[in-house]
Amino acid sequence: MTCKLIVKDHQTKQSANLADYAAACRSFTWQQARDELAGLPGGGLNIAHEAVDRHVGAGHGDQVALRWIAKSGARKEFSYAELSRRSNRFANVLRARGIRRGDTVFSLLGRVPELYIAALGTFKAGAVFCPLFSAFGPEPIRARMEIGAARALVTSARLYKRRFENHAAPPEVFLVDGNEAGATNLPSLMEAAADTFDIAKTTSEDAALLHFTSGTTGRPKGVLHAHGAVAAHHSTGRLALDLRPGDTYWCTADPGWVTGMSYGIIAPLTNRVTMIVDEAEFDGERWYDTLSREAVNVWYTAPTAVRMLMKAGLDAARQHDFPALRFMASVGEPLNPEAVIWSNNAFGMPFHDNWWQTETGAIMIANFAAMDVKPGSMGKPVPGIEAAIADTAADPVRVLTEPGAVGEIALRPGWPSMMRGYLHEETRYKECFRDGWYLSGDLATRDADGYFWFVGRSKDLIKSAGHLIGPFEVESALLEHPAVAEAGVIGLPDDTMGEVVTAYVALKPGHAPTDDLRLELTGHARKRVGPAIAPREIIFRENLPKTRSGKIMRRLLRARALGLPEGDLSTLESDGT
Ligand code: ATP
Ligand code: MG
Repeated sequence: MTCKLIVKDHQTKQSANLADYAAACRSFTWQQARDELAGLPGGGLNIAHEAVDRHVGAGHGDQVALRWIAKSGARKEFSYAELSRRSNRFANVLRARGIRRGDTVFSLLGRVPELYIAALGTFKAGAVFCPLFSAFGPEPIRARMEIGAARALVTSARLYKRRFENHAAPPEVFLVDGNEAGATNLPSLMEAAADTFDIAKTTSEDAALLHFTSGTTGRPKGVLHAHGAVAAHHSTGRLALDLRPGDTYWCTADPGWVTGMSYGIIAPLTNRVTMIVDEAEFDGERWYDTLSREAVNVWYTAPTAVRMLMKAGLDAARQHDFPALRFMASVGEPLNPEAVIWSNNAFGMPFHDNWWQTETGAIMIANFAAMDVKPGSMGKPVPGIEAAIADTAADPVRVLTEPGAVGEIALRPGWPSMMRGYLHEETRYKECFRDGWYLSGDLATRDADGYFWFVGRSKDLIKSAGHLIGPFEVESALLEHPAVAEAGVIGLPDDTMGEVVTAYVALKPGHAPTDDLRLELTGHARKRVGPAIAPREIIFRENLPKTRSGKIMRRLLRARALGLPEGDLSTLESDGT
């Protein structure tokens, strides 16, 4: 797909933080990115100081840092000064309870202000923060806490009662509300604590964050990040999300996933924006209303949400105005070209897709504000990142320079938010690196203009009658059809073809799963991608199985079709059966 979507007025492009991509790539150094940060007085680096305290020191204490919207719709604001004081109190609580540098503090909370305060306070105390998604069941929580050697947990009385009925909690449990046996009421401790705190003298190499991957391809891995990552969060927030001080910004991701931390807490605060945090889950009308009423300038969301908005139709979007909106970005899964074109119609600007992983800690490949968007492309590497398409079956790894060649996305290690390890999985960590490259496990191509195009995860690649087929291309073709809301494509074993391309399709409201429609979709896909690549079989489903972060779990479609064990289901959200 090479169709170009040129949507920006000239002025928006010229005023973008990254106006000249080539020049920015030439001049960028990570040292410079680090130098844009303040560093701790007396030396060292701490995420919370960069995110909050340095802005207060520079006279911006009164600016709203966090505007929280409760499920009820009630709003509550926290200035930078308030966030600083509250995170100081939390750090004092941790210290008083004997939690030391390097200890792990877990959170199990919905998107409530206490989560944000606990994260910042934990950084200040020099401990490692691990946010868990509040919808996890008891067993996934237990397993993660064991892997992360949880020293403390911040949660609510309700979640504590429900999730820890039958298994042991960490040594310290802080409840943001109420009282329970074995736990301490946090508000009373916070009230008694001082609101000043001497931030731990962390360095860029001190561990700061533990994140679990989404579990899309298998059992989630515990990924460790260090304080130095903040240089990458800050610079990619500015360059790839076009964040500017004073902006109103909304990242819809939950901090239980890496996006909700890197770009839902750290990057927005270091770039001194006002963050919108909505406690509620997806609701199309509410989302349009929030974008409009809160005058959001920059919006960062995920393909699954975009597809849900598409499902509700263009008219729903057009009933609202978004005069403040300047930039929209998406991450987490491939963003189908159809979604980019739709967003351009709905909002007058396209979603800008970007690509990264829990392991990379920050955006690696992006469509920048000043760049022409090619629908379906992930964009170009961010300044400071060397990305290549590599033949990793070759020994040594061979970089493929020819435009259109399919290979694994390989990144040259050395950026500050690169993971420092998979917790307790040293061999697996080492296997990610070969011949001077970090190998991502994702396949892509690069075109002659240097744009990267996602093909699929290498684990999801389909081998059919001598063709190598990436599910994304087939799914995108299906999604172009007006009846299709979602599509997940897998290969199923076949004696003659090797694998047959099989598509699972969820329909938009008002469309019935008939044989005629199946035929029509097959015909449509054949026209779009050719008979060798189009699905042989189309199976209609109400929903597709997805992770809680909204990714289609193709491994589960495959396991279920073949009657194989379903594997780790801890992150499964909606069940497709
Ligand atoms: P697990 O590693 O446990 O299987 P996961 O890979 O889904 O789960 P994350 O680190 O949350 O866990 O997701 C990163 C992956 O998401 C990438 O490797 C890629 O496959 C996919 N992804 C992220 N952004 C994009 C994008 N813009 N286009 C295509 N794929 C994307
Ligand atoms: Mg992964």
